[in-house]
Amino acid sequence: MPRCPNCNYELTFLEKRHKYKCAKCSSLFTEEEIKLKEFNKFNKTERAKGKKQERKKLNKKFRKDNPNYSSIYYQKNKEKSNKVSKKYYGKHREETLKEKAEEYKDKQQSKKEMIEKIIIKCMQILPTFVLA
Ligand SMILES: [Zn+2]
Repeated sequence: MPRCPNCNYELTFLEKRHKYKCAKCSSLFTEEEIKLKEFNKFNKTERAKGKKQERKKLNKKFRKDNPNYSSIYYQKNKEKSNKVSKKYYGKHREETLKEKAEEYKDKQQSKKEMIEKIIIKCMQILPTFVLA
């Protein structure tokens, strides 16, 4: 299910009105609005992913072509690289941890959604067994 653009709460689809409603902030959204938002979000994350992968690939190729580069560079700039990596870690530590937490949350969420789907399926099937 898509999420509310205002408060990120799960939206429910009102079939009669063909609109999405947020139970938390009670905003209403048209199907098109949500589809467009989801599409834009998808595009944005895909683009970011692509950039990251591209950078990683270039980096990998460079390292492959220059296998001694990092050790030579490190020997030459020991103090500087230590400082830089410490600074980088300090700067991006929270970001990295946040990314990890986010990934974990997404995983848990999709697990939850899968279980919910299974429960719904079971509840649909169950009455036929009981009646039979
Ligand atoms: Zn909302």
